[in-house]
Amino acid sequence: MTTDTVLVVGAGPAGLAAAHALASVGAPVALVEKETRLGGAPILSGYAKLVPSGEWAKDAIGGMVARVEGDRRVSVHRGCTVEALDGEAGAFRARLSDGSVVEAGAAILTTGFTHFDSINKPEWGFGTFPDVVTTTQVEQMISSGRGVRCPSDGRKPERVAILLCVGSRDRQIGREWCSKVCCTVSCNIAMEIREELPDCHVYIYYMDIRTFGLYETKYYWRSQEEFKVKYIKARVAEVTSNGEKLVIKGEDTLVKRPITIPFDLVVHAIGMDPNVDNPRLATTFGVQLERHGYLDRGNAYGALGETARRGVFVAGAACGPETIDDSIAQGNAAALAAFSLLAQLRPVPA
Ligand SMILES: Cc1cc2nc3c(=O)[nH]c(=O)nc-3n(C[C@H](O)[C@H](O)[C@H](O)COP(=O)(O)OP(=O)(O)OC[C@H]3O[C@@H](n4cnc5c(N)ncnc54)[C@H](O)[C@@H]3O)c2cc1C
Ligand code: SF4
Repeated sequence: MTTDTVLVVGAGPAGLAAAHALASVGAPVALVEKETRLGGAPILSGYAKLVPSGEWAKDAIGGMVARVEGDRRVSVHRGCTVEALDGEAGAFRARLSDGSVVEAGAAILTTGFTHFDSINKPEWGFGTFPDVVTTTQVEQMISSGRGVRCPSDGRKPERVAILLCVGSRDRQIGREWCSKVCCTVSCNIAMEIREELPDCHVYIYYMDIRTFGLYETKYYWRSQEEFKVKYIKARVAEVTSNGEKLVIKGEDTLVKRPITIPFDLVVHAIGMDPNVDNPRLATTFGVQLERHGYLDRGNAYGALGETARRGVFVAGAACGPETIDDSIAQGNAAALAAFSLLAQLRPVPA
């Protein structure tokens, strides 16, 4: 007997999109989220205005949360994880950490990513100097309305440096991947700082700029032409302090000269690591990990979001660094794939 319910694990943009899509076509959904709040990274980490819509995360993703919470076809299990998944496509049985059991025909893993912890890049000053922060912290300063300030004494910074690719494209620390969205997010943050603090000089240290597709005009060129953000192509060696200011030492790779520049605030544009739960999720759900530790997709040209286990699908940043828009699109695609599979498995009436 095929069960109509679909189990969705993780309530970020991808999971919220999948749950809404399924509920919209009448499928019951059990949505399991390990935190007590829904919304994923944009809500849990307090992002400010999103790229590329320019909408506040609390409104845009908050709207997706409200839509799902208000839908009686979605039963939400907060502060909860899946401990075991038995059975097969059409008739799974999931045991949750709160002791309840969910019967589901299919499952969609939308468990997202873990922010890179800048402590793993000690030579760039995070954890040593309080005025070395991450893009997530700057997002929180903006979204809380406090404004961008130096944590050490609350002063308005006069000079800010944003360092790209922190925890991405770095073979020395085992992270080869590009996190896809941090160049664009950094250009956006740089413009927001210049808007709030027009006298503040903002520099972006980069290897390459990957403001892909249409973001090139809206973020890369606009940040330079309208907001006078300065870009330095450099290899950063270390972030230290001269007792008064933070000092970034490195090499300007265009002119091939050493550079040493003082700043008040240094921002790490942190990347997207695989979710630390992935090894456990892979074992529980019987799916594979790809070589970097993200959840592996099966056939890319079949039903989008298939995994090695029939009836278990995956979407969003769980399978690699992803934007919100693409995570939502993949959540919708996985919902359609799960819904189609259940329709195929249902016995045809005589
Ligand atoms: C600083 C920063 C700023 C960004 N800004 C933007 C932006 O402006 N625009 C943009 O397009 N992208 C942005 N991104 C990327 C964006 O965060 C991701 O695209 C998006 O969060 C991916 O959504 P998701 O639903 O796949 O995963 P997530 O948002 O990570 O959500 C996953 C959910 O699953 C839950 N979960 C995890 N493990 C389990 C488990 N074992 N059991 C149950 N639940 C679990 C988590 O608690 C979370 O709620 C930014 C990234 C960073 C680092
Ligand atoms: S998007 Fe930009 S900052 Fe992020 S990893 Fe890729 S190149 Fe580096």
